[in-house]
Amino acid sequence: MTVPNRPPSVDTLARSLSRSGLPHPLCVEIAREAIAADDVDGAPRRAEEYRRTLLTDVINATGVLLHTNLGRAPLAHHQTASAQTVEFDLATGERGSRQTAVGQLFARLTGADDAMVVNNNAAAVLLVLAALAEGRDVPVSRGESVEIGGSFRVPEVMEQSGCRLIDVGTTNRTRLSDYERAIARPGTDVAMVMKVHPSNYRVEGFIEDTSIGDLASLDVPVMADIGSGLLDANVPWLSGAPPAWLAGEPAAVQAVADGADIVTFSGDKLLGGPQAGIIVGRADLIAQCKQHPLARALRPGGLVLRALQDTALTYLDKRAATDIAFWRMVDRPVRELQESAQRILDQLVNEFGVDPATVAVESTAALPGAGSAPGVTMPSRALVVEGDHLVSLRGAPTPVIARTRDARTFLDMRSVDPQHEAAIVSALAAALDNR
Ligand SMILES: *Cc1c(COP(=O)(O)O)cnc(C)c1O
Repeated sequence: MTVPNRPPSVDTLARSLSRSGLPHPLCVEIAREAIAADDVDGAPRRAEEYRRTLLTDVINATGVLLHTNLGRAPLAHHQTASAQTVEFDLATGERGSRQTAVGQLFARLTGADDAMVVNNNAAAVLLVLAALAEGRDVPVSRGESVEIGGSFRVPEVMEQSGCRLIDVGTTNRTRLSDYERAIARPGTDVAMVMKVHPSNYRVEGFIEDTSIGDLASLDVPVMADIGSGLLDANVPWLSGAPPAWLAGEPAAVQAVADGADIVTFSGDKLLGGPQAGIIVGRADLIAQCKQHPLARALRPGGLVLRALQDTALTYLDKRAATDIAFWRMVDRPVRELQESAQRILDQLVNEFGVDPATVAVESTAALPGAGSAPGVTMPSRALVVEGDHLVSLRGAPTPVIARTRDARTFLDMRSVDPQHEAAIVSALAAALDNR
């Protein structure tokens, strides 16, 4: 007669799961579920699967530098648990504004009168429209009435803000006279015109749009949503000429200089900082935005403000090329990327016995990402491995996120921090099962 194995107690099983690093109450829940499912042996796997649903550092080998699913701009930021002057004026000892410190830095960086910060650029656009155009009309070119990834749709944001969208021009051509007619039309009450950078698509051929400079000749304020967050089209923080892929990317300094009264952009795209929305422009208009009730709901916390302040100081200090991770990736010479990929390949072949016929270093085109126009690429190199290894690469201790094409796995070096080469070697060696 065989004695059936009695399942372990929930508590014993939960204790055995403590190595997962999960807090005890979560281990208890996982243990209970495993016992109920008659899957005691699977409990450690269940704990590991749960752990992997938490936010986890990964290696971005996709070649998409600002990958929205991977948090866009990678950012190192450390701060202590200390109290800080988020809303405190050290000079007077009285309450201050959380918009002062970072606002003055971005005003300086962009040449604007004043600036403020909210949680993201979608919030920035919403606040500007609500504060400056609620109940009034805002002409937008039909070619700029766009949807930008993650359900940012210009007509819907405008509706939420309480202003009325007036479509002007056509999908491919909008002239200054189209805006002029909309403003002059009897019965309209135009608060301002809005220009939106159609970040993620491009119309080619017989096209015309109206520049900020031309729009500035109108009698109403001009708002420009440039989205991408490039500070200065001349990229003075990089040595040498602006990279070719940046051509056509609108920039904050130039938008302000051309006469935009309000410019909004993201903190975590080409700026390379934390998720935030930055509003720069005329002091009286920024003041109206700060006073609107939505400003309170959309305000960022001290953590984001401090990280954004560090980002701004890095630009002012001309350290952006070395100290902002995004620009470091952009600035790596192709020769270095080639060497990186080759080092990984050599180790796989020499130390792990990987068949040299199954690995190669190839030219690739990396993408800036975060809604950059299609076709805009930067030269790169990838380590290419025969077969689809995406699942096992994601299963590595530090998960590696790669891409496949034609049943081959591409690890693009441009989005990889060089210090992660060793982790990539072990992940690939495990994936190729040659350990
Ligand atoms: C990315 C983008 C947005 C949305 O910005 P978030 O910071 O993601 O909220 C809005 N407008 C434009 C033109 C963009 O490129």
